[in-house]
Amino acid sequence: MKLSILIDNNTISGSCFGGEAGFSCWIEIDGKKILMDMGRTDMFLKNAARLGIDCLDADYIILSHGHYDHTWGLHHLVQAHIEATYEKRPCRQSQVIAHVDAFLPKEAGHKNIGMLMSRETLQETFPVTVTRDPMWLTKQLVFLAEVERSNDFEAVKSLGHTRRYDTWEDDYLYDDSALVYTSPKGLVIITACAHAGICNTIAYARKVCHEDRVHAIIGGFHLLRDDPAVMEKTLAYMTACQPDLVYPCHCVSLENKVKLAAALPVKELGAGTVLSFE
Ligand SMILES: [Zn+2]
Ligand SMILES: [Zn+2]
Repeated sequence: MKLSILIDNNTISGSCFGGEAGFSCWIEIDGKKILMDMGRTDMFLKNAARLGIDCLDADYIILSHGHYDHTWGLHHLVQAHIEATYEKRPCRQSQVIAHVDAFLPKEAGHKNIGMLMSRETLQETFPVTVTRDPMWLTKQLVFLAEVERSNDFEAVKSLGHTRRYDTWEDDYLYDDSALVYTSPKGLVIITACAHAGICNTIAYARKVCHEDRVHAIIGGFHLLRDDPAVMEKTLAYMTACQPDLVYPCHCVSLENKVKLAAALPVKELGAGTVLSFE
């Protein structure tokens, strides 16, 4: 499995890749190509081109959740797809997969932080599948869909509001999800923002894949705020998992990266990073 980071808040010094407060990655596995998230602008398309990746060639487009910093780039992908169709250039009929709540309106502080494009508009270009249950994309790669919240210290606070059946309610981001690759060395867990909680996500990945060994954890862990009690429990859980590699990015503060690095085999990651797993 090959994983290329197309968007992260961080970009590696000396490279030509653009950074952006968001997340996007490209996965190649078992002959399938998967685009997970698209950041906030068209930067992911530019970074992909620098890596020789054509985002119009994806078999699957995964929306990790509906937030703007992961989905607003979709607008540019749809435009690129329509232009390629006009010009009769090859482009795949990628299948979009997301939790159904990803398409609900979301706001925080009276600002739109949800998707710009409705499910109906998106479906004019790409077929859309929504699911609350895990969905295997290949024999070894699963989209977790709705992450079970099994502990009492993560995802207990809402973030903004979401509108369901014309009523605004506190948003607990039930649409937040992750991809998991079942490698011979254990699970490779790819999170985007981990609003469901990084420990909840790891625990659910273990349950869905019937595998306790965790080889690598990559992505945003939603550890932005300084909450020592939560961090202590997070570190205890993650350390007990004994991962071989940990790549915290996007929504992890520097202070929390330092705490993770003191306890776990943390590696640096940024836009343009390419990782390979057996
Ligand atoms: Zn988010
Ligand atoms: Zn995010």
